[in-house]
Amino acid sequence: MKGLLMCVCQGTCPSFQKMNIFEILNTLRREGVVEFVALHPQLCADDGDIFLSILSKANEDIEKLYVAGCDPKMQAKMFRDAFEKAGFDRTKHIGIDIRNMDTEQALQTIKRALESS
Ligand code: SF4
Repeated sequence: MKGLLMCVCQGTCPSFQKMNIFEILNTLRREGVVEFVALHPQLCADDGDIFLSILSKANEDIEKLYVAGCDPKMQAKMFRDAFEKAGFDRTKHIGIDIRNMDTEQALQTIKRALESS
């Protein structure tokens, strides 16, 4: 099972202002390229850790968990503890950098990442 989370710095960061996040999530849902999608305002906050832990613990079937948002290296650092706590294999997390893109650019970048990993 593949899932995609979008994380957008509370919706206030200029990096995510040019894109329509719901259009992106809806397109990916409609096309069925992943089994589930979700939006979280701030995955690197404490409640984001809880969300990631619960999601990854409850879903042993997750083969890949894509997170479209900020820099993938930053994501890996910020989510490490939550995944460890949940016993979730960190290599299943694939970060996708969509900062400063418009809707179409973000969609194509996400689709390329889904196809190549
Ligand atoms: S995980 Fe990245 S995109 Fe999400 S709120 Fe934190 S810095 Fe922003």
